[in-house]
This record gives sequence, structure tokens and C-alpha cells, in this order.
Amino acid sequence: MLKTAEERVPRLGDFSQVVGQQEIDSIRTLAEGLRGMSITEVNSTSYGGGVAEILRSMVPLIRDAGLDVRWEVIEGSFEFFSVTKKIHNALQGMNVELTDDERRIYLEYNKMNSERMQLDTDFVVVEDTQPTPMIDFHRTRRGKWVWRCHVDLSTPSIAVWNFLDEYINRYDAAVFSSEKYVIPTLKLPKVSIIPPSINPLSDKNREIPEDLVLKILERHGVKQDKPIITQVGRFDPWKDTTGAIDVYRMIKKEFPQVQLLLVASMANDDPEGWLYFEKTARHAGDDGDIHILTDLIGVKDLEVNAFQRASDVILQMSTREGFGLTVSEGLWKGVPVVGRNVGGIPLQVINGSTGFLVDTTSEAAEKTIYLLKNQEEAKKMGENGKEHVFRNFLITRLLRDHLRLLNGFT
Ligand code: UDP
Repeated sequence: MLKTAEERVPRLGDFSQVVGQQEIDSIRTLAEGLRGMSITEVNSTSYGGGVAEILRSMVPLIRDAGLDVRWEVIEGSFEFFSVTKKIHNALQGMNVELTDDERRIYLEYNKMNSERMQLDTDFVVVEDTQPTPMIDFHRTRRGKWVWRCHVDLSTPSIAVWNFLDEYINRYDAAVFSSEKYVIPTLKLPKVSIIPPSINPLSDKNREIPEDLVLKILERHGVKQDKPIITQVGRFDPWKDTTGAIDVYRMIKKEFPQVQLLLVASMANDDPEGWLYFEKTARHAGDDGDIHILTDLIGVKDLEVNAFQRASDVILQMSTREGFGLTVSEGLWKGVPVVGRNVGGIPLQVINGSTGFLVDTTSEAAEKTIYLLKNQEEAKKMGENGKEHVFRNFLITRLLRDHLRLLNGFT
């Protein structure tokens, strides 16, 4: 991994250079309303995937705003995370059912984690389904509990939802990334819609010098003078990395020198990663223009940043996507995105303006070829994309919405 000398954790005040002082002042005012209060954020991994990405930025910023915040990560065995991944898959529409044994494992680990953690803060924000039932083991809770859902709930398995619903309805509020995920049977006192967002000053997204981008490309054998299309996303049933390869193969017929970068790390809480890595690698075969770039070969935030910046087009072929931070990350770098019209992707890809929404791999290939042939238009779409992210999907907006939600309880 390449490191630069100026690397440091951005402070809340630093964001005024991106979003203006007024925005920072309004965040500080909201934090003022919560002065003296404490918050615990709970999720299932400190590394890999969108939730960890957001918390890595949000937690220090909340602290910077003057609040007492801690981040707890649940512990679990391989079998626990296999069950939680099954729950995740079921909620995203996979036809799977939980056995009694799986339910028992899920609840046992939640009980164990709730006993291990100190959850007596004024607010407890539980991210996603892995730690959801912890609330059940804290019936004497003192604070307000918020359930933050990041999954694509457009077509959930009803049986699995009904099992979780019982725990979710015990929360004081639920937060979804999009209006379309709100399930009608929810009976919570408060439901909010807050889309996720990216940190424009992190190593993943900050401006980096051109020579650093080139150095990173060279180090990973990517040619800077040939077209680059990139999909960033975990190895997972929903990211359709093999579909991205199919798209690339169709493009290759018109652009024989095109390269495909599949930037795809392993998340600590995802036991399916290796299975989908293997499927993807097998599908890629020995094509030297397909680069599988993982954290295992030193692809960290700065490298992801460089690959996204160097791309002509970003692909997001996911078949389900709660939000898809990778889309905003690409757009923020002025690169148009061709993505499936599912989940959170259409919040970010405005068809014909910041990229193209597609339903099939052949449509994705057609639109990507169009962008490769019409570079001026592609550049304009990238600029529109950056503006769209600036207005809607930066971390300061998320922080403001988050603090406003908690203020609503005081
Ligand atoms: N990511 C990464 N390296 C990879 C693959 C993904 O750093 O090889 C990051 C990606 O840049 C994004 C996050 O992981 O910040 C994925 O979030 P997203 O919302 O797109 O999807 P999720 O993984 O939560 O389903």
C-alpha cells in the first residue's frame, strides 16, 4: 500500500473547505442540543463494506462535534456470521428459510454480545440485522434505541422479515436509506429516511495527485493509456461481479484494449466472500486485461481512490443494493456510472445525466460503449455526478440528519 506524507484524519472543521462554514455551524448547533449525552454505535465489522466505511468517518466526527460516542463491534463465530449472511440474503429477496437451530445461534450470540457490551448510553444505534435482537436482552434499557437498516428491502422474504419484525418493533426509531424500503407492518414510533454518504476528505475520496494515481496503476499492472472500466464491491451474491465480466467481454469486441478492474475486498463479517471470489476468478479465466484487485494484495483506500479516478466508466451491476456507496464514490471523482436500476443506485445515477440506469448486461455494455465513444458527454455526466453527490451524499449531510434524528428525542 502506498502512503502519502500528508495523510491524517480529517476534523469536522476541515469540511468547511468543501461544504462551507454554515453547514459546519449547523452541525455544531445540533450537537449542542445533545450536549452531555452519550451514543453507542453497534455494527458487525470494523472493516469491509459500507457500514464500516461510514462509521469509520462518522464516529470521529460525532466526537469532534463534542459528543461522547463509542463504536462497538459484535463478536461471533463463523456459524453465527453464516446465519446473519443468510438473514441478509433473505431480506434482499433470496428464497431461504431459517432453521430452529439457526435462530438459536443468532439469538445466543446476540445475548452474549449484549451482556459483553455497555449499552447504557443515552442513544444506541444498531446498524443492520446482525445485532438487531440485542435490544431484547436489554429490556431495562435506559436510552433510546435506533435501528439503522442498510439492506435493499425491496423484495424481502416475508418469513424472515416476520421473525425480525418482532425485535425491530421494540426500537424507538428505524432509519432506512430509501422510502421504498419502509415495510408497512412496522409499528415503531418514528421512521426516518436517511441515505448514506461518503467522506470527501478520506483517503478513499480526497483529491490525490495524478502522479500518485499513475504510480498505483503501474504497481498493479494497469495500463493508463488504455480504456479502464471498474466495478468496486465485495465478493457477494448481489454484486454480480461475473455480470460485470460479461459486460466487459461485450465491450471488448468494440474496444479490444479495454481493461476491467474488479476491486473487491473481503469483509470480516461475510463468510461467502471466498466462494464468490472463486466464482469470479473462474469466470475471468486467464484474461490478462481483467484485474482482480483485493485488499489481500494491498488494495486499500488510496488504491480504490486511484482506480476510481483513473476509470473511464464505473460499473455497478449489483442485482440488489441497499445504497451503494461505490456509486457516489465514482461520481464524486467525476466518472459517469452505468448501474442496474435497483435499490439505492437510482438515487445516485440519474439516467442520462450522471450516468445510465440499465436492466441487463447487454444494455450496460451498450451504454458503456456509448460513453467510451462520446468522451465529452461522459465528462459532462461525470461533472453532473459530482454536483449531485455534493448536494446530497456527503458525510456532513449524513451527520446533520443523524444528529437531527437524535435531537428529536430530547
Ligand atoms: N470497498 C473497498 N475495497 C473493495 C471493495 C469495497 O474499500 O475492494 C469499499 C467501497 O469503496 C465502499 C464500501 O467498501 O466504500 C462498500 O460499500 P457499498 O455501500 O458500496 O456496499 P456494501 O459492501 O455495504 O454492500
